[in-house]
Amino acid sequence: MAIRTPLALLAAALTFAGAATVPATTTASAPDTNSPSTSPTSTAVTGSGATSSYLPGDLDREQNQRLKEQLAQAKARARADRANGVQRAPAAVTTVYYDASEAPSFDSEISGTQQIWNGSVSNVQLVEDPSRATLYFEEGSSANGSYYQGDGHGSGLVFLDYDQANTYAPLRIVAHETGHALGLPDRYSQPCSKLMSGGGPGPSCTNAYPDSVEASEVDTIWQYGVAHRPAA
Ligand SMILES: [Zn+2]
Repeated sequence: MAIRTPLALLAAALTFAGAATVPATTTASAPDTNSPSTSPTSTAVTGSGATSSYLPGDLDREQNQRLKEQLAQAKARARADRANGVQRAPAAVTTVYYDASEAPSFDSEISGTQQIWNGSVSNVQLVEDPSRATLYFEEGSSANGSYYQGDGHGSGLVFLDYDQANTYAPLRIVAHETGHALGLPDRYSQPCSKLMSGGGPGPSCTNAYPDSVEASEVDTIWQYGVAHRPAA
């Protein structure tokens, strides 16, 4: 039941943002984390919540499509501005504050993820500050494995699954799910050099760094700061 608090806060954060791209009903239909994880190979969909997970499955289809569209919008906007010579007011670097207090087992991986992303992108930075957090990390056991649920723009929940972290590189899992929070969709068929290929390349892939294309995409998404949160 520990999941209730972050999800409630997520709902509040999205409401407060005033530009929620995740309907309130989405948070209410979050994957049931109380489901016993009966099979390590299970990809059963136990909920219809919009999430993006570390492994391919039907579960993440809806949110992944939304993340793809958001990224395409950000790229199109940047292209149009370049073509038209538009100089929008450059946003200050956007800070995404996070709370890692509900994921103590992953403390070092979350710190490592912060360093990886902050060192890879320049338009958005991750800072741990529970009092201002919009992004929450939580650990536990879920039949859905690790996943991200949120708006893909700095708000939401990164859930880290114990079983999955015993099979796949934990740092890659955390960095990958955080990549969703920064706006990137899953691309499971891509190689290990891509962070967003997630579990696609298999457990032997331990790369936890976005490649230059992925980093550039995040910078494009955050080019105009949080004010340009894509419309629903
Ligand atoms: Zn994913």
